[in-house]
Amino acid sequence: MTLYLPSRLPNVGTTIFTVMSRLAAEHGAINLSQGFPDFSPSPRLLERVTHHMAAGANQYPPMAGVASLREAIAEKVARLYLANYDPETEVTVTAGATQAIYTAIAACVRPGDEVIVFAPVYDSYVPGIELNGGHAVHAHLRFPEFKPDWDEVRALITPRTRMIIINSPHNPSGSVWSAADMAMLETLVRDTKIVVVSDEVYEHVVFDQQDGGSLRHESVTRYPGLRERSFVVSSFGKTYHVTGWKVAYCLAPRALMGEFRKAHQFIVFTVHHPAQLALADFMREHPEFADTLASFYQAKRDFFRQQLEGSRFVLLPCAGTYFQLATYAAISDEPDTSFVQRLTKQHGVAAIPVSAFNPDGDDQRVIRFCFAKNEATLAAAGERLRAL
Ligand code: PMP
Ligand code: GLN
Repeated sequence: MTLYLPSRLPNVGTTIFTVMSRLAAEHGAINLSQGFPDFSPSPRLLERVTHHMAAGANQYPPMAGVASLREAIAEKVARLYLANYDPETEVTVTAGATQAIYTAIAACVRPGDEVIVFAPVYDSYVPGIELNGGHAVHAHLRFPEFKPDWDEVRALITPRTRMIIINSPHNPSGSVWSAADMAMLETLVRDTKIVVVSDEVYEHVVFDQQDGGSLRHESVTRYPGLRERSFVVSSFGKTYHVTGWKVAYCLAPRALMGEFRKAHQFIVFTVHHPAQLALADFMREHPEFADTLASFYQAKRDFFRQQLEGSRFVLLPCAGTYFQLATYAAISDEPDTSFVQRLTKQHGVAAIPVSAFNPDGDDQRVIRFCFAKNEATLAAAGERLRAL
C-alpha cells in the first residue's frame, strides 16, 4: 500500500536551481544558472577551518553562534551602517540565509497572517510562509526596471499584514533600492505591527558606487523606523565565496531575536563549529575583504557584458548582485523555461528562467545568468552565446 500524503506544498516542485544545475551537469554545459562562484575562497580561510578542526572545535558550539563571530558581525555592521547590535542578544549565526529567513517567518507568522513579498521573488520565501500557515501577498517589481510601486504596496497592507519581506540588492533582477524606497517603506510601516525581513545577502555587491557615489547599499539597519522591526539577514556564502558552507546570520532587536532564537534552537540548534571560528578569524584579519567585493564583481559584470556585445541578447541594467538579466526576443519567441532548456542542451550554457520567480509563472521572456565565475568560464560562455 502507498500511503497517501496530502501535500503541504502542492504547488512546489524541485527548485529551479537544482533542476538547472542538474541539467547543466547532464549535458556538460557551462553552468551560469545556480548562483555560486566557480573559484576558490581565500586559502587563509580554508587554513583556519582545518586549524580549528585540528584544535578540537568539533562539538556543539553555543546555540546562537560562537562569540567571536557574533562580535565580528556586530563590529562590521557598526562600521558600515553605524548601527549597534548587541552580539550577546541581537546577533544569531544560522545555517545559511535560507534558514534565517525561514526561522524569522516561523517565529512570527501565524495561520491566516498575510506576508507581502515582491515578485520576482526569491524561491524560498513563499514556501516558508505557506508551511507556517501564512498567506503570501505579491507586490510587483515590474519589468524592466524592477522598482517597487509604493502605491501598490500601500494598497496591499491590511490589518492582517504580519510581515513584509524585502531583498535589495535583488535576486534575480540586480536592481537596488534607493534611500527614497527605504524611506517610503519606513513611512508605510510606521504605527503598524508589521515586521520586516530584509534579505541583504548581496549587501557588499552594489556597483558603480564610485561614479558620483549615488548608489550604496541601503541596509534597513540605517533606518531607525525599520531597524526596530526588522530581521536583517546576510550570508557568508556570498561574501566569502563559500556558498556550500551554509553559514549566515540574522540581526534583530533583542525582543525579536528572543523569539527568533526560540524557533532557531529547534530548527537547527546551531551551526558548523570550525567554519564559524574560521570566519571570525578571517573577518578580524581582513575587515577590508567585504569592501573589495563590489569592485571584484563589477569587473566580472563588465567582462561578461562585454562578452555578450554583438550577441542577439539584450542586457538589462545590473546595479548589484552577481546576476545579469537578458532578453532574447531576437533569438526566439519560446517561453523562458523552454528557452533555457534548449540553451543548455543545444548550446551548452545553462541559465535560470525568471518566470520561476513569479507566482503565476508570469513570463516576460527574460533569463538570468550568474557571472560569479572565472573570466575563462565567462569568455567560453560568451563565445557560445554570441553564436546564437
Ligand atoms: N536570499 C537570496 C536573495 C539569495 O540569492 C540566496 C542564495 N543565493 C539566499 C537567500 C540563500 O542564501 P544561503 O545559501 O546562505 O542560504
Ligand atoms: N540563491 C542561489 C541562486 O539564486 C541558489 C541557492 C540554491 O540553490 N538554493 O542561484
